[in-house]
Amino acid sequence: MHPKLEKVLSETAARNPGEPEFLQALTEVMESLDPIIERHPEYADYGLLERLTEPERQIIFRVPWVNDRGEVMVNRGYRVEFNSALGPYKGGLRFHKSVNRNIIKFLGFEQIFKNALTNQGIGGGKGGSDFDPHGKSDNEVMLFCQSFMTELYRHIGERTDVPAGDIGVGGREIGYLFGQYKRLTGVHEAGVLTGKGLGWGGSLVRTEATGYGQVMFAQFMAEDRGESLEGRTCAVSGSGNVAIYAIEKAQQMGAKPVTCSDSNGWVYDPEGIDLDLLKEIKEVKRGRVRDYAAARPSAEYHDSGNVWVVPVDVALPAATQNEVSADDARELLKNGVKIVAEGANMPCVPEAIELFQEAKCAYAPGKAANAGGVGVSALEMQQNASRDKWSFEYTEGKLRDMMKSIHDDCLETAEEYGKPGDYVYGANITGFRRVADAMLAHGVV
Ligand code: NDP
Repeated sequence: MHPKLEKVLSETAARNPGEPEFLQALTEVMESLDPIIERHPEYADYGLLERLTEPERQIIFRVPWVNDRGEVMVNRGYRVEFNSALGPYKGGLRFHKSVNRNIIKFLGFEQIFKNALTNQGIGGGKGGSDFDPHGKSDNEVMLFCQSFMTELYRHIGERTDVPAGDIGVGGREIGYLFGQYKRLTGVHEAGVLTGKGLGWGGSLVRTEATGYGQVMFAQFMAEDRGESLEGRTCAVSGSGNVAIYAIEKAQQMGAKPVTCSDSNGWVYDPEGIDLDLLKEIKEVKRGRVRDYAAARPSAEYHDSGNVWVVPVDVALPAATQNEVSADDARELLKNGVKIVAEGANMPCVPEAIELFQEAKCAYAPGKAANAGGVGVSALEMQQNASRDKWSFEYTEGKLRDMMKSIHDDCLETAEEYGKPGDYVYGANITGFRRVADAMLAHGVV
């Protein structure tokens, strides 16, 4: 690694102890920047790398709320505004018990490059809370969201910072957050949050965008190899927003997703996932994948292990970080996997990525393959700003074009920097170059 990159990496590690996922994300990007720093040493000047690795602002706040038994609960809220060189901070809110500053910083750092890849003029940020929505009543979720927004509202705005959903934050939570923002500010500022309901400023295709975009990206990867997803079996992990719409798009393309999962267990359905049943259980009843298996005679339920043991052509991780271990990668490769496209953020551990690449299995990192979600969020902001409403077909066409551009930009950049076919180098260098050029133009700020 270039000595400057090594120095920034070791200094950042020393300044951020106890933050393994943040350092994992940082290391992956830094390791890719060697060729561009060699060719353009100016990118290592002006403290650019030091500034890029230090968030512009980190907000941590108390979120007190009262549960249905009248007890006072206290959670911790976060918003990390990482980089605004390309536009207002943009990135989701995650509500999950595992959330801490490390997790939000890793996600915020990834978001900088992902958002740059979309070419939509958006900076990188991320937020959330260690609030666990599982088992909470609707009333408790509403009270929590209202308390969370009572602090967050002073930091966000359509021209400063625009949050959206992520794990544990879907349409219901965005509704409660938007309602409290409107109440506190007295302004109906549609562009302050994305992922809104269709009747009050939301965009068609936003719900589907991340999963659809992930599968479109996998299709472009297949086409690049003269292949297609049609007739291919797919393993999908998770059963939330990204997983459900990855399954839907894969089915539309003639592929056969045969798995899904949640944090309790996983399902193998050799007949192919029955999407209507899965949506009914997850989106309407807020149930578990165990309930899917109970209602579907062809499905097996497993309460240990994970979906990666099933023989498939395509792997579509869509649950959470570090969910594909080196052993999982070996198992997938042994069973003949050809394409891995990440819907979740950083789902594959670094050793797994190395194994896929060594085996010449096409592998695309989340910051490229799952960028459709934030990409359509930017289209939602565009519709809000122009008070326009686009059709499903038109918006999906724009998503497809965006995923194609990201795919092609990654491959072109990888080729330009001597790493043909390497989506990791391609995504990291393309995103970095766009952000770094803007940072250099803006001076030391
Ligand atoms: P959801 O909350 O809708 O679904 C998450 C799914 O993953 C659930 O099935 C959940 O199971 C499972 N899961 C979460 N954490 C764990 C864990 N620690 N172990 C096992 N399973 C787990 O979230 P999304 O679908 O929105 O997000 C999934 C991934 O995609 C995340 O990495 C997110 O950052 C990423 N992403 C999401 C985008 C979006 O637009 N929503 C955009 C880009 C990336 P359970 O119900 O048991 O918790």
